[in-house]
Amino acid sequence: MNRKNLALGNEAIAQGLLENGCAIATSYPGTPASEILSSLARLQRQTGAALHAQWAVNEKIAFEIAYAGCQAGLRTAVSMKQVGLNVAADPLMSAAYMGTSGGFVVISADDPGPHSSQTEQDSRLMAMMAKIPVLDPDSPAQARELVAVAYALSEAFRIPVMLRPTTRVCHARQDMAPLSPRPPERQPAFEKNPARWAATPKFRNQLHHELERKLAEIAIYPATAPLKLNAAGETPKAIVVSGVAAAHAREIMADLGIGDRIALYQVRQPFPLHTDFTAQLLAAHSEILVIEETMGVIEMQLADRQRVRGKLCGAVSRVGEILPEAVENSIRQFAGLPGRVPSLPTVPGRRPTLCAGCPHRASYFAIKRAAPRAIYTGDIGCYTLGLNLGAVDTVLCMGAAISQAAGFYHAFKNAPKPPDIVATIGDSTFFHAGVPALIDAVVQGVKFVLVILDNRTTAMTGNQPTPATGTGAMDEPLNRVAIESLVRGCGVSRCETADPYQLEAFTRTVRAAVKYSRSSGPAVVIARHPCLLDKRRQEAAALAQAPTVGDACDGCGYCLKNFECPAMGMDPETERVRIDPLVCSGCGVCLTICPQKAIAACARD
Ligand code: SF4
Ligand code: SF4
Repeated sequence: MNRKNLALGNEAIAQGLLENGCAIATSYPGTPASEILSSLARLQRQTGAALHAQWAVNEKIAFEIAYAGCQAGLRTAVSMKQVGLNVAADPLMSAAYMGTSGGFVVISADDPGPHSSQTEQDSRLMAMMAKIPVLDPDSPAQARELVAVAYALSEAFRIPVMLRPTTRVCHARQDMAPLSPRPPERQPAFEKNPARWAATPKFRNQLHHELERKLAEIAIYPATAPLKLNAAGETPKAIVVSGVAAAHAREIMADLGIGDRIALYQVRQPFPLHTDFTAQLLAAHSEILVIEETMGVIEMQLADRQRVRGKLCGAVSRVGEILPEAVENSIRQFAGLPGRVPSLPTVPGRRPTLCAGCPHRASYFAIKRAAPRAIYTGDIGCYTLGLNLGAVDTVLCMGAAISQAAGFYHAFKNAPKPPDIVATIGDSTFFHAGVPALIDAVVQGVKFVLVILDNRTTAMTGNQPTPATGTGAMDEPLNRVAIESLVRGCGVSRCETADPYQLEAFTRTVRAAVKYSRSSGPAVVIARHPCLLDKRRQEAAALAQAPTVGDACDGCGYCLKNFECPAMGMDPETERVRIDPLVCSGCGVCLTICPQKAIAACARD
């Protein structure tokens, strides 16, 4: 614990929380933010720190738990990915008005690119809309430092403070000073003040005035003022950067040797932008380039279209990550330097696919067989890859598989032959946002089948527990919620559980549910088989060895097209399918899918 270590950005943030006395930390997993809470839980176990760390059922709940902790005077934090902040937007907007008692840090990790998200949205704009300050770190080390700044700012102004790392900060590694955890110094104390904490619209108006006063003061708060990153004197040109663009620009300007010709400023608090800085910048420089990810948040606040260049005029791309070559090209153009850095050639990649032996593959294969002409509404998670199997037609946002199924039902219900509708949703996503949608579907008598893909974990983000797992973030035993009871409690009369590895029986279950739904309303099938990557639940594979493909294989390609297990591939020499034993998990599901019955289990030794 006393040695320097190479920490992931998310670990660095967790270290920052622990050494600043965070007493309650909550989260819902989502890339690139997931490792913040899992690192905190690990550090808590290592240090015995007095900390409540938990995965919540969704981001709104996570926010509200952590916010109540700060209402009781403690230092607390909630972490999520940028689209998760949309789920927590309701309490965020109100919390900004009501303010805080202890320090409260809202960590929203953005995903420019986007690498694993539905959108490239910029959480700084959400902070602007909520009217709370936001801090934009350029590296893991700065993210850790800014946790301390965020708590100080939050407590000085009694306001939630957003920390907004991006993927390149969350997933970069950097040499870190050793952790020195600081135990929470305060005892919880809740000061009853209904005018503040349960304010009616009349008081909310007053609180809004108070919030505006706070923002004006935060805009001159010294600890978060912009930094000058080079020694340029009175230069006509200036570059303003934030987030990872600051880290790139600092190195690129040094390499180009233009540090004395163009002033470089780093904005660590993009909102509210420091008013003195804005005034001095516009007074001292006649041409200003702003490089920031993802939207033009700083640029908008500079509001001088004649002298300020950036995303609004197209000098900086409005889409995608600010990669080093993009930063260099913007700087070269602004500095009048010749040359252009080419983008790295893109390596043709293999399209993402479900793992070998993933139970979801069997579920989708069965759904396609049971309801071949259905509309398939899908949801957010690794099982979105069911679209490769032709069993996912729509993906919008968490929980939307069920509400979109309802929308399609209402659209087609008076058609001469309404289509079957099969929605798929993961177990964690069902708990997150599926339950209210299912209640609505039951009330409205929506005729559809919901297949809950229950692999007993939140697989896509690293196998965090769900409410059905029975353990928490720190591996502590917890109560379980049974999905079957929950589904029946929502008013669903027909709910069956089946193992998708038992492909024939599972297909019959889905087919019967589809038939039931046509006449009688919602039917639910719980497709239960544990994720093969979940270390808590690793179960023996069904087969001891990879199956073999025999002479009956005529190379028709049906299995590759419709099942696409990554262990299977066409052998160009024999023109038959071959199974790679190093990739095969031994699930045995493929034994039943070949029309020629050419795939067989190996004899055990
Ligand atoms: S294993 Fe069966 S389905 Fe696959 S290519 Fe051979 S004959 Fe076709
Ligand atoms: S047994 Fe068949 S389906 Fe399962 S992983 Fe191996 S090749 Fe793929």
